[in-house]
Amino acid sequence: MSFEKLNLIEPILKALKTEGYTQPTPIQAQAIPIILQQKDLLGCAQTGTGKTAAFAIPTLQLLYNNRQQHKEQKTIKALVLTPTRELAIQIDESFAAYGRHTGLKHLVIFGGVSQNPQADALRRGVDILVATPGRLLDLMNQRIVHLDQVKMLILDEADRMLDMGFVNDVKKIIAKIPVKRQTLFFSATMPKEIQHLADSILNKPERVEV
Ligand code: AMP
Repeated sequence: MSFEKLNLIEPILKALKTEGYTQPTPIQAQAIPIILQQKDLLGCAQTGTGKTAAFAIPTLQLLYNNRQQHKEQKTIKALVLTPTRELAIQIDESFAAYGRHTGLKHLVIFGGVSQNPQADALRRGVDILVATPGRLLDLMNQRIVHLDQVKMLILDEADRMLDMGFVNDVKKIIAKIPVKRQTLFFSATMPKEIQHLADSILNKPERVEV
């Protein structure tokens, strides 16, 4: 299996070569075709499996292919929610690496630091926002972030977000995102509560487990 067989576009294949990736990991081989078909996904995968690239690569490709459609708009089209600052930074770095030839703008926001540089960057416009739930909700309440143009929602490490007490924040955030969207939901474990949360936000998801 190669990345070429996954029908990836040239700007992304070029970036993957720079990264030194020669073949997709199992989660990537399974998830990328589903996501490119614009289906919802429920992914059961641990960190270290390559799950970040499994959602970042097809997200970049879908946004890149639709870039003409929203050329004038500098609005958030993909939102990634993740529980910690460290994960948020890693995910943002992945978008930077795989998206280096796409021209798409990405930004990471998290709590515990001044919000002003984040607010300035948001005002300049981003296509992809990676965020921890608390800071995002703060900025939404101040009307600095608007999610009404979001087409893709990605929940990363959903079980940890629940464990860390973010479930109400996550629900409030999702309530502001259009229902007509593609949703990708990743969790290392699938206890009942997580399955319920997934059922409430996904639309006929394909399930992928590694
Ligand atoms: P993750 O599970 O998303 O935290 O990724 C784990 C690590 O695997 C990261 O350091 C990635 O850069 C790396 N990685 C992801 N996909 C591939 C791939 N297809 N080939 C080689 N390394 C990869």
